Amino acid sequence: MLRQVAEGVLIHQSEFCQSNAVVVHGRAGVLLIDPGVQGHEMACLANDLSDSGQTVVAGFSTHPHWDHLLWHAGLGAAPRYGTARCADIVRVLLSDAGWKARIAEWIPPDIAEQVPLDLLGRITGLPAGTARIPWDGPQVRIAGHQAHAPGHAALLIEERGVLVAGDMLSDVLIPMLDLNGTADPIEDYLAALRLLEGVAGGVDVLVPGHGSIGGADQVHARIDQDRAYVHALRDAGVSSDPRVGPSATFDWMSGVHARQLQRLAQRSERGGTPG
Ligand SMILES: [Zn+2]
Repeated sequence: MLRQVAEGVLIHQSEFCQSNAVVVHGRAGVLLIDPGVQGHEMACLANDLSDSGQTVVAGFSTHPHWDHLLWHAGLGAAPRYGTARCADIVRVLLSDAGWKARIAEWIPPDIAEQVPLDLLGRITGLPAGTARIPWDGPQVRIAGHQAHAPGHAALLIEERGVLVAGDMLSDVLIPMLDLNGTADPIEDYLAALRLLEGVAGGVDVLVPGHGSIGGADQVHARIDQDRAYVHALRDAGVSSDPRVGPSATFDWMSGVHARQLQRLAQRSERGGTPG
């Protein structure tokens, strides 16, 4: 189940939305980024790791969406991190008794039973401005930004040439903007793409939160594709993005696109106020 994509960097893909969990080998164990979705898949990952003599020494969630905040008891009790903003959001969500019930409604019914919510979101926020994940392994640089979700972070494992993009730069999901808590979601997203472009120089392997792993040639191609989509959204133009139309991997993507167009039109009618 674990597939190596670079020296000491392995991927475990979930059936749900082609979600990618990332395992990074360190000196005393592994760093696990966005562990996965279904309980049996995370249990399988835990088994694969223990069979190869590895324990999880740190976890990281790229952003405060449920499918990136899960955990399984078999993965152990290592500290799990996120950006300060991500952890703040999760803390508020966890204090809301209705949150888990709402998540349960978003999870497709065919896998709902398979998604363990008991260890959801138990992350520690790294102080704002933290440059690297604190762990004993290859340096993992945190490229935090506001785009898809508040406190979203991409991770750059420079010595392995790997960029873990969180929910950006996917070949199957269009850019999904954070339309709730920000004054200018379009500009935030474009700024985040510029930030990723700025760190992508030495990247050979691109790991999106959902979708297929990209090679060196894919890094700039996906940044350009995401930027073109966001421009089309901004200009309320027609998007010829292959992730939406008839050849799309997920048929619900056209609904996401239509909703984003509608929400942005409503915002501009109200003079650009958030909401
Ligand atoms: Zn997300």
